[in-house]
Amino acid sequence: MASVFSKIISKEIPCFKIAENQDFIAFLDINPNSLGHTLCVPKIEVDNFLDLEKKSYDKLMSFSRNVALAIKQVVPCKRIGMSLIGLEVPHVHVHLIPISNMEDMQFIKKIKLNHNKFDSLAKEINSVYTLSNSI
Ligand code: AMP
Repeated sequence: MASVFSKIISKEIPCFKIAENQDFIAFLDINPNSLGHTLCVPKIEVDNFLDLEKKSYDKLMSFSRNVALAIKQVVPCKRIGMSLIGLEVPHVHVHLIPISNMEDMQFIKKIKLNHNKFDSLAKEINSVYTLSNSI
């Protein structure tokens, strides 16, 4: 069965999209640790990042860096934390989490956002990403 992220990639289910290219998509995490918590996902459905081809892994990291730079311009934070977990969704994804303290990296403290806030935040980060990566 296709993963929930493959269903997002095929547009079967919606997401708050931040960035997309031929190989990857980035969208806001639906249950965020902090404002701007984003997932960067390869379109190829692989469970564990260690099973990605080295070239795909390198490209995923490069894509995630560009997305993180855009998030950092929009969301006030000390830095962007990065985490690869995959215990819930067996489809490689890089968590990019704007953090101001260590608790923001723990997947216990969650924030609630309404649809309009998710939507406006995604659009704002997407604009910065598009501008920075248009050449
Ligand atoms: P993990 O697999 O443990 O790295 O966690 C999966 C992450 O995916 C969690 O932070 C979820 O909130 C997030 N998630 C699950 N379904 C969706 C969805 N439909 N849209 C956005 N994020 C999701």
